[in-house]
Amino acid sequence: MRIGVLALQGAFIEHIKMLKSLGVTAVEVRLPRDLDGLDGLIIPGGESTTIGKLAVMYNLMEPLRQFAAQKAMWGTCAGMIFMAKEIGNGSAGRDQPLLGIMDIEVERNAFGRQVDSFEIGLAVTVFQNGDGGLFPAVFIRAPRLVAAKGEARVIAALADGTAVAAQQGKWLATSFHPELTDDPRFHQYFLSLVGN
Ligand code: GLN
Repeated sequence: MRIGVLALQGAFIEHIKMLKSLGVTAVEVRLPRDLDGLDGLIIPGGESTTIGKLAVMYNLMEPLRQFAAQKAMWGTCAGMIFMAKEIGNGSAGRDQPLLGIMDIEVERNAFGRQVDSFEIGLAVTVFQNGDGGLFPAVFIRAPRLVAAKGEARVIAALADGTAVAAQQGKWLATSFHPELTDDPRFHQYFLSLVGN
């Protein structure tokens, strides 16, 4: 299995390390041709505005959309924003290019400045019961899911109901950063979607 990690900006090295620890070939993606032969792609956290602008500059927007039409894709944090069709506060546009593939609406920096970083144990509906308990979810200036529409389903929410992870077929989006923990379950779950 060969998995790419979009390496324009942000926390791509941590995803690569996690994938390698799971015995997967992990490839940094910067150019359209880097997508050739990959089975899935992760879009890391970072700054979604910067990732979007660089993706336009490197002519990656259409190749990424075509890739997603066939293959598994997972966006963490800024990557989730980049995959979304809608941003709640309307900042999408020329200044914030979006891939716009998942039927989700997100709100950037949804947890305010006081709590711009926190960790919380999260129940993830698609994990089997009893296989390791709550997932340690790390949030850093994180977005939240305002809505999951169409085929998109919420797969994790905070105790107050705030949705923080969604799945739509082979696509995943998480507000938080599984690559910054030692817990491989989200990466393993993504790999199970790649293999389907
Ligand atoms: N706040 C960033 C954004 O809006 C996301 C933060 C992150 O990826 N850790 O793009």
